Amino acid sequence: MSTLLDRFLRYVRINTQADENSTTYPSTPGQLELGRLLTEELRAMGVADAQQDEHGIVLATIPATVSHSAPVIAWIAHVDTSPETSGANVQPIVHDRYHGGDLVLPGDPTKVLRASEHPELGRLRGQTIITTDGTTLLGGDDKAGVAVIMEAAWRLMQQPEILHGPIRLCFTCDEEIGHGVDHVDLTKLGAKVGYTLDGTGVGEIDTETFSADLAIVTIHGINIHPAIAKGKMVNALRLAGLFLTRLPHQEQAPEVTEGRQGFFHPYTIEGGVAKTIIKILLRDFETAKLAERAELLRSIAHAIEADYPRASIEVKIVPQYRNMKEGLVKEPRAIALAQQAMRQAGVEPRLAIVRGGTDGSRLTEMGLPTPNLSTGEHNFHSPLEWVCLEELETNVRVLLELARVWGNEREA
Ligand SMILES: [Zn+2]
Repeated sequence: MSTLLDRFLRYVRINTQADENSTTYPSTPGQLELGRLLTEELRAMGVADAQQDEHGIVLATIPATVSHSAPVIAWIAHVDTSPETSGANVQPIVHDRYHGGDLVLPGDPTKVLRASEHPELGRLRGQTIITTDGTTLLGGDDKAGVAVIMEAAWRLMQQPEILHGPIRLCFTCDEEIGHGVDHVDLTKLGAKVGYTLDGTGVGEIDTETFSADLAIVTIHGINIHPAIAKGKMVNALRLAGLFLTRLPHQEQAPEVTEGRQGFFHPYTIEGGVAKTIIKILLRDFETAKLAERAELLRSIAHAIEADYPRASIEVKIVPQYRNMKEGLVKEPRAIALAQQAMRQAGVEPRLAIVRGGTDGSRLTEMGLPTPNLSTGEHNFHSPLEWVCLEELETNVRVLLELARVWGNEREA
């Protein structure tokens, strides 16, 4: 396991924090640096075609060891980390044989990983836990995925007796700022099915995500000096307040929903008397319900326009991503063989839903069925982020089994 640990520690020390305000792709140079390192390491292990493209994306192929034509599968992880917590100068701390109690992070002793608040830690007594020093994130999201894929690749190259089909590796950039697959060319990737390695713990297969639209509500009022405003002014800000209070915030907001419930989430408002813009996230597991949500917004807009005839309210809907379930039904083996691989690795699989999107939701929509697999991340985007080495190791073994079970398949 030491090569796996060394890999993980090497990757998290490179600052790959994504930057929403950047005008380049990828948004930060550290992502290119890590991509270069991965390319070199892949070539050194004998993966001859490893290459970083002009967008920073690393593509490589582990050649098949079976003689029949087995389907090409792809393993995908993102090299960037979240903009929410600093990724500069990450000092990972390895806690050997975790004692089961609280872990005080020495760089900022106010940051304490409490066993009582993180019950999944309690099951890992005696194992190797890796935390931050409390001043940065760890970057297990998604360098755990990068390390697990790289380790699995290395073991497959070392052990040609493991029978498998062609495996494409794909390391993407800027996932955390919504641009993870902007430059992924599915023809170039050439896979039948993909797996993102970007999930929590062990044993989960994420097979559903939200379907997501963005609603942009623009309220046009009429501005005039308040001294002479009587009968003339229409205050867009006030109408924005009315609009927000008419959303079903008691039962359909993120603050009050869970599981399969969808919501309206107004998250930014900007403007003044003459014009105010509200942005609202629409989320649902049933794609058809997004249209009903848009319809409700339009009916609220019409009702307010009826009360304030000199105002006008536009509702514009921008599609974001779609529930991957719709695309996964086209390739039922994507989930079934992942379940089989987990069982062969000694892990009982659980199908899970994600109240958000993954790179896999967009890839699946683009035509590559791509569920997300447990990778070993915990408390991501936070200074309290941690991973467990033994979980990473289990997830490497899941990938080796996944290689095997897909190697038994034949290309249709
Ligand atoms: Zn991630």
